[in-house]
Amino acid sequence: MEKNKKIVVGNMKMNLTSKEISTYLKFVNKKITSRRVVICPTSIYVPYFVNQNYFVGLQNIYSEEKGAYTGEISPKQAYSMGISFVIVGHSERRTLFKESDTLIHNKVKAALENHLNVILCIGETEEERSLLKTDVVIKRQIKSALKGLDSAMISKVILAYEPIWSIGTGVIPKKKDIEKTIDYIKGLVFQEFLVEDIPVLYGGSVNEKNIEKLNTIPNVSGFLVGGASTDPEKFLKIIEVAVGR
Ligand code: PEP
Repeated sequence: MEKNKKIVVGNMKMNLTSKEISTYLKFVNKKITSRRVVICPTSIYVPYFVNQNYFVGLQNIYSEEKGAYTGEISPKQAYSMGISFVIVGHSERRTLFKESDTLIHNKVKAALENHLNVILCIGETEEERSLLKTDVVIKRQIKSALKGLDSAMISKVILAYEPIWSIGTGVIPKKKDIEKTIDYIKGLVFQEFLVEDIPVLYGGSVNEKNIEKLNTIPNVSGFLVGGASTDPEKFLKIIEVAVGR
């Protein structure tokens, strides 16, 4: 992907039935023709999404190449199905499925070693924010996830700053706070890994109504969209504002 252009990632999570997916695809495949867009459907629907003019990503991946890991998908299998991106470390995986920093690191490494681009989610809880711990939490998450990776590998990572208290709640941080945290993240990645200007997306309650405002944040590289990505008209509006036609 070219640098310096915005990216929109849709995380559809565990939503829509097969019938709803066919309606969704009729709209999306006709209207979304940008290689700045990554759609991450529920994994069983991936074959319906590949070979279009946008990229396809998984919402999760396992760290091993193959074997007795019932229910998991390996990076090698994902790549063989035409998948180019994977979301790692989403807060729902960290919280509901108890994914540790170590597991997240192993997943990032395995994905990068198997030709996948990684969208690495980081972000603080409401409590951490109120204790002014946002920077400390983000530093821990980034340092552990990217530990030991060289700059060529890290150049295939996109970070997604997602304050957990903003995901699915309709509550969005102030623009200046998002800008400040993204500045901190970019500075940290340069200081720790010598990678300049790593792309950082914002995620958390992005929708068709607030996108114009969020899109004016000067250092944001794009958006990770959850709920609104399951509604094709809302998703298209977000893409039109952030990426253009
Ligand atoms: C997400 O879960 O990554 C997300 C950003 O969700 P939502 O847009 O629904 O807040």
